Amino acid sequence: MSAELDDLYQEVILDHNRRPRNFRRLEGGQHAEGFNPLCGDRLTVYLQIDDEGRIGDVSFQGSGCAISKASASLMTDSVKGATVAEAARLFDRFQQMITGPADGPIDRLGKLEALAGVRRFPVRVKCASLAWHTLRAALEANEGMVTTE
Ligand code: ZN
Repeated sequence: MSAELDDLYQEVILDHNRRPRNFRRLEGGQHAEGFNPLCGDRLTVYLQIDDEGRIGDVSFQGSGCAISKASASLMTDSVKGATVAEAARLFDRFQQMITGPADGPIDRLGKLEALAGVRRFPVRVKCASLAWHTLRAALEANEGMVTTE
C-alpha cells in the first residue's frame, strides 16, 4: 500500500469498516437502495422520522469497499437526531469537502473529516458519497434505486 493510500485508509476509516455503526435493518420506516457501479458498492439506508421531523433512527446494510462502508457508518452516526434540513446541509458540506481542491482547507465536520482524503482520489469520491445520496433518496421516501452515475 502506498503512503498516500495508507493515509486515505486512516484509523477512523479502518475502524468504521471493521465495526460499522448502525449496521442493521430497520423495520417500519423509509428506505432506499444505492449502487455505485464504478466500484460495485451497494447500500440500503433505513430511517425513521419522528413526530418532530427529526431522524429518530437511521441504519444501513450492504457490501462494498472500505470507503463506502466507513462513509455509511460515519453518515449514520452524524445524522441521527438531526432534522431533515440539517441532514441536507451536512450532505452539502460533506460533498464540498470531498470534491474540493486537494490542498484546500477542510471544513469543520468532526469525524466526517476522516474522509477528506478521498478528494485526492477522484474515483473514490463516489464511494464516499454513495451513503449520502442514498440517505437523500430515503428521506424523499424514494423506494427506487439510486446510482452515483
Ligand atoms: Zn467503493
